[in-house]
Amino acid sequence: MITVQNISKRFGDYPALHNINLTIEPGEFIALLGPSGSGKTTLMRIIAGLEFQDSGHVLFDGEDVSTRKVAERGVGFVFQHYALFKHMTVAENVAFGLSVRKRKDRPSKIDIKARAEELLGLVQLGGLGNRYPAQLSGGQRQRVALARALAVEPQLLLLDEPFGALDAKVRKDLRRWLRGLHEQMGLTSIFVTHDQEEALELADRIVVMDHGVIEQVGTAEQVYMEPASPFVSDFVGEINRVDVTVTNGLIRLNDRQLDIAANGYADGPAQLHFRPHDVELAGADAGGLPIIVSNLFRKGGKWRVEGQCGTLDRVIEIDLDATDTPPHVGAELVVRPTKSRIFHTTGR
Ligand code: ATP
Repeated sequence: MITVQNISKRFGDYPALHNINLTIEPGEFIALLGPSGSGKTTLMRIIAGLEFQDSGHVLFDGEDVSTRKVAERGVGFVFQHYALFKHMTVAENVAFGLSVRKRKDRPSKIDIKARAEELLGLVQLGGLGNRYPAQLSGGQRQRVALARALAVEPQLLLLDEPFGALDAKVRKDLRRWLRGLHEQMGLTSIFVTHDQEEALELADRIVVMDHGVIEQVGTAEQVYMEPASPFVSDFVGEINRVDVTVTNGLIRLNDRQLDIAANGYADGPAQLHFRPHDVELAGADAGGLPIIVSNLFRKGGKWRVEGQCGTLDRVIEIDLDATDTPPHVGAELVVRPTKSRIFHTTGR
C-alpha cells in the first residue's frame, strides 16, 4: 500500500504540489490525470524517490520511505522517452537492471539470460532478443522498456505517458495489453496521462489533478458521473458550460427561466454543465436553451449539432440520434438538458 501524506513541493516560487494526500491499495491501477503542468509527473517522481518533497511523507506498507533513494524503493519505471541503450541488444537492455546488481544479489549469467527471455516472451517480443533498439518499432521499444522495468521485480510500476509518442491505434492496443499484464503479474501501477480516454479505460481509480492539487479521486464512473468540481466536469468528458443565475431556486438564462431544478442551490451566479448527449429537444415555449444551428456533422453514429445560444460566447454542442432527421444550419432549436449540474462560478 502506498500512502502519500501532506506532500508539498515548490520549484523556486512555483508551487508544483500543494498538500497532496492519497492512498493506493495493493494491486490497484491508478491513473494520475490532469493537464500539462498540473503536477502529475512531480508526484510520481516523489513516490519513486527521483525527486524529494519539501514537506510531507511517502509510506510504503506503512513504512516511511521519504528519505530512501530510488534504488531502495523497489519501483520500476517506463517513461515516454525512456531511451533504451542503443549499443545493447534488446535482451541486454532487459537484463540491465539485474546485471548491475551488487555481486551478492546478482543472479548467475545463465539465470539473467533466462529471465530476460522470459520477460521478452511476456511482452510478446520472444525471439527478438538479439536485435538492437533501432531495429524495433516505437511500440516494440516501449514494450522492451516495460520488460526492463519488470526485470527487477518491482513492487510498484510507474508509467509516465509511456505510450504518448505512439499512434492512436497502437496506443489503444498497448494500454489494453498493459492492463492485462498488470493483473497477470499482480502489480500495483501508477500511470501518468493527460488523456482522459486512456485514464477512463485503464484505471481502477483516477486521480484528477490541476495546479498542484488533487481535484477528485474516484472510479471512472464517479469522476464522469459525479464530478466534484467544475474543473473535473470540464476536463473529464465533453461538457457544455453556460453561465446562469439562480433566483429563488430557479435557474435563469438572461431573462429566460429554464426548466431545470436548482436543487437547493444558493441564489446567485452559477454555471450550468451538461453533456452533449444528455439533452432532448423541446417545444419553442418550453424552458430550454434556444440555439441557432451553426454546424452539423456525423460523430460516432450520432449527429453532432453545434449551435449559438443568444449572446453566449460559447458554442453549445448536442448529440441527436442518427435516425432523427438532422436540423439544417440556421434552424432554431430549444435544447433541454436531461441531466445537468450546477456549480458556483466563484472558487475553483
Ligand atoms: P506534463 O503533462 O506536461 O508532463 P505534469 O502534470 O506532469 O505536466 P509536472 O511535470 O509535475 O507536471 O510539473 C508541474 C510544474 O512544476 C510545472 O509548472 C513545471 O514547469 C514545474 N517543474 C517541474 N519540474 C521542475 C523543475 N525541475 N524545476 C522547475 N520547475 C519544475
